[in-house]
Amino acid sequence: MTLAFSAASKEIAVDVGHYAAEPGVISASGRPEFEYNLALALDVRTELENLQIQTRLIGEKGDYAALGQRTREAKGADLFVSIHHDSVKERLLPQADRFAGFSLFISRLNPFPRKSLACASAIGVRMRESGFVPSRYHADPVLGESRPFADEANGVHYYDNLAVARSAPMPSVLVEAGVIVNREEDRRMLDPEVRRRIASAVAAGVRACMGKEQ
Ligand SMILES: [Zn+2]
Repeated sequence: MTLAFSAASKEIAVDVGHYAAEPGVISASGRPEFEYNLALALDVRTELENLQIQTRLIGEKGDYAALGQRTREAKGADLFVSIHHDSVKERLLPQADRFAGFSLFISRLNPFPRKSLACASAIGVRMRESGFVPSRYHADPVLGESRPFADEANGVHYYDNLAVARSAPMPSVLVEAGVIVNREEDRRMLDPEVRRRIASAVAAGVRACMGKEQ
C-alpha cells in the first residue's frame, strides 16, 4: 500500500522518440520508428494511468526537432522515460535478423544517476519477467558500440552523452523496446498484445522505482 501510494503522487514524462521530419530507423517492413514509438508511448501512458500514476506525453505530435525542447517541457515531472525502437549499424543491416532484444540507457551526467539506474533496472526486471530478453548488441566491442553495462542482467547500459538523459533535470531512462530491423522482431513489435505487455512491464518498473526513496 505504501508503495502504491507514494508512486501515485508522481508524474512521469513519456517521450515519443524522434519526429515526423526525421522519424528514426526504418523497420524491416518499411515503417518509420516514430510510428512504433508513438504507439508504445500511448500504451505506456495507459498502463501508468491504470496504476494511478500521472503522465505527461512529450513529442506525440511529431514536431519536436530540438531535443532540449523535450526535457524543458518535462520540467516538474519526476521521471523522464524516452521510448525508442532499435536498429544496428548500417554494415550489419544485411544480417539484422541476428539482433534482437530490448536495451535500456542512462547517463552518469544526469543529475540523478542512481535513481535513473534504479528505474532502468526495475524496468529491465519487469521486461524479463514478461519474457523479453535484453540485447547484448550495444555492449559488444566488435559488432556493437562497447557501451558499458550499468546492470548487465537487466540490459541497462551507460550512455553518458545521450542528450535526453543528460539534459533532463530529473532521472531519465531511454528504452529501446526491440530491434525493428529484424523481420521477426518487427512483426512482434507490431502485435498490439506484445506492445501492451511491454507497456505494462515499463509501467510496473516505473511504479517500483518511484515508490522507493533514494
Ligand atoms: Zn530511436
